[in-house]
Amino acid sequence: MIIWLKQGCDPELAYREAQPYYGHLIHDEGRAVLVISGKIKDLPEPLAPYTEKFVATGSDFQLASRMFKSSTRRVDLGGGVVVGGDTRHCVLITGPCSVESEAQIESCAQLCVETGVKILRAGAFKPRTAPYSFQGLGIKGLELLAKMREKYGLSIITEVRDATHVEAVIEYSDIIQVGAKAMYDQGILRACGRITKPVLIKRGFGTTLQELVQASEFVLAGGNPNVLVCERGIRTFETKTRFTLDLCGVAWLKEYANLPVVLDPSHAMGYAYGVPDLARACLAMGVDGLLIETHPCPSEALSDAAQQLNFDQFKNLALSLRKLAPVVDRHLV
Ligand code: PEP
Ligand code: MN
Repeated sequence: MIIWLKQGCDPELAYREAQPYYGHLIHDEGRAVLVISGKIKDLPEPLAPYTEKFVATGSDFQLASRMFKSSTRRVDLGGGVVVGGDTRHCVLITGPCSVESEAQIESCAQLCVETGVKILRAGAFKPRTAPYSFQGLGIKGLELLAKMREKYGLSIITEVRDATHVEAVIEYSDIIQVGAKAMYDQGILRACGRITKPVLIKRGFGTTLQELVQASEFVLAGGNPNVLVCERGIRTFETKTRFTLDLCGVAWLKEYANLPVVLDPSHAMGYAYGVPDLARACLAMGVDGLLIETHPCPSEALSDAAQQLNFDQFKNLALSLRKLAPVVDRHLV
């Protein structure tokens, strides 16, 4: 249940009364709002004196839902890029799967500048499926990303693998990526709720849409309104492609959730050849962002080699997306 408090009442007193109902107090557009368990149908008696209006949501999909905000929430991603609200913006995000060396990440930063991309993405803490694979450069990778921000004025997004280094990722990055395997980590989600930097939560490959939006509720209920979600493919019976991009799920998110939706066709497809067509299809669906992996020499990449676009492929894709965007009523930023 979402409860908008009366102006002039003491929100802290209301918050104390809300504790038996697992209450969270947030501030939204200058208003104090209490969120209590979504299973409660009738306004609890002790909260009545504080309540201006309320909505019984019927589930724990609450602050992320259109019952709370009727349109997509506006999120400032830094670098002059805003998505959601009334913008019609689709943000193009690119970079390699992993930071591998200064020369490699710098060439990707230069690709961003050349193609008008404002947000550089690369992993420093990689959640690999085997301990014998490249695990990322760790703090060194974060430092290199920060260097690229300084040198090229780009906004930086990088992923947090587990709660042990969440504070470092928060400190170095402009946008925090919570990966598909990390999205159930409560330590990460709660830490992201205590800040106001934007957080991109990737859907796990075995995660239902309800679980995805509930993960975002941990960040929103913690007080951070700047949450985006990312569809990156789910596991189905199909094995010819790496995962299956769930565009039906994207349609559901656009209809029922107020979170900007970013699409990652690179991880869904798993092979570079399918990525440009999927990216154009996603743009045509009206998504809020596209995340495309690029590498100066994909075949030599230390992670996700098969799916990364080389620079010529990405330049062609960026060009075609810029042509397509106005046709489908989006503005590529
Ligand atoms: C990544 O973005 O490079 C990554 C590891 O993706 P995911 O968390 O979606 O598997
Ligand atoms: Mn990757």
